[in-house]
Parts: sequence; C-alpha cells; structure tokens
Amino acid sequence: MFKKILSVLIACGLLSACATSPTGRSQFIFMPDTQINQMGLQAFDTLKRKKPISTNGQYNQVASCIAQAIIRELGGQWEVVVFEDKSPNAFALPGNKIGIHTGMLTLVGNQDQLATVIGHEVGHVLAKHSNERASQEMAVNQGMAIVQAVAAPQTALGQTAFGLLGVGAEYGILMPYSRVQESEADMIGVDLMARAGFDPRQSIGLWQKMEQASQGQQPIEFMSTHPAHATRIQNLEQHMPQAMGLYQQAQAMGKQPRCI
Ligand SMILES: [Zn+2]
Repeated sequence: MFKKILSVLIACGLLSACATSPTGRSQFIFMPDTQINQMGLQAFDTLKRKKPISTNGQYNQVASCIAQAIIRELGGQWEVVVFEDKSPNAFALPGNKIGIHTGMLTLVGNQDQLATVIGHEVGHVLAKHSNERASQEMAVNQGMAIVQAVAAPQTALGQTAFGLLGVGAEYGILMPYSRVQESEADMIGVDLMARAGFDPRQSIGLWQKMEQASQGQQPIEFMSTHPAHATRIQNLEQHMPQAMGLYQQAQAMGKQPRCI
C-alpha cells in the first residue's frame, strides 16, 4: 500500500499529473481529458437508448430554460435531457451532458432549487471529478505501470478506465464521488447559479428537501455519498455572503431568469 501511494506521489512529480481545481484544491489527475469525455459521451448515449426520455413539454421547457441560463455562464455546447424517472436525481457527465429526472422536477419548489441541482452537477464536471476519481483508483489499484501506460494514451486501457468510472453499475454512469468532491461541487454550483441570476439562498431549501426525500424508501444514489446534511448546510451558509455578492451583480446586469 505504501509503495503504491509512493508511486502516486512520484507520478505526480514525473508526469506533471497534478492539477488545481476551480476552488484551488490540488488534484491528482493524469487521464487524458479526451478519453474521459469520450466515456461520458458513450455513457450518455447508452442511457438515452435505455431510459425513457420525457415528452412532457412543460418539464422540458423548464429544465432547458434553467440549464441554458447556467450554460450561458460556462460557454460551450451542452446537451440537456429530461428522463422519465420518478427518483429525484440528476447528473452531469464529462463531455458536457446533463440529465435530469422528472422526479427531480416534481421535487423542487422553484427554479432556483433546480438551478442548485444543475449547478452542483455541472460543478463536478468543471472540477474534473471523474478524471480525478479514475486517476486515483487507477494509480492505487494498478500502480506505477498503469500510470505510465496512461500517460501514453494509445493503449488498451479504455475498458479498465471505463470500469473505474463506474460505467455499467446502476444507471451505468454514476460513479461515487468523495465527500471532498461533493462539497467542492456545492461551492462551485452555488456560485454558478448565482452568476446566472438564481437565488443562492434557495440551495439550502433544496438540500433540505433532498434530505427528506432520501428518508423512507431506498437510498437515492444522488445522496449516497453526499456530505452529512448539517455539514453541507453549514458550509453553504458560510459561503453565502460570496454567493450573494455574485447574485446581486447578476441581478444588476439584468440576469433575472423567469423559467417557472
Ligand atoms: Zn454530487
């Protein structure tokens, strides 16, 4: 184990495999982004073939309006799909794909709460959490040889990496994120929604609703590795002055989405 951790540290130095996340956190990342994006695209395609896509005009319009307001802050091309599924879930994948369940649309109380969810999921993509997770798993499980192999990406490692991303499990797309990554996605997401003109204070109400929804029936994947509820709310409250500043700037610039 020690040897493996050591090889990760060496890889970090030798392969310039260290990156910095949008919040300034050091990350160990060495998978090529093109490969990770390719996996995201493939997983999203599979999902679109296997899961019913919602034809509800109102749901699609609301989801698209909120997502587009957020995407305007990001730039680039993003695809947004509403899936017919009662569980309150949402996800974003490398390769700029966003999926929202109808169960999430019925759970949220207003546009700002759905913006919280989309912001959080997009936050995972912006901070390259899939790459980080896959890189860590690969280095720890496979050691230095594979680190070197991936640094030269023309190898047959695709399938291994695919497995590490969690493809094939559950919906075939959601890999568990760490708590650090979840907290980071919260912070990135709340700033992002605020910049798009959505009220960041609504993020607290959203997570409270999610907490309630996760009690009772089976656990929701979306919640399974998320930070303890009290910690998450506390972190958001600490971050709120910054987010409110961004929100007020956005309002002053006339960014006042009316999606619901
Ligand atoms: Zn998350």
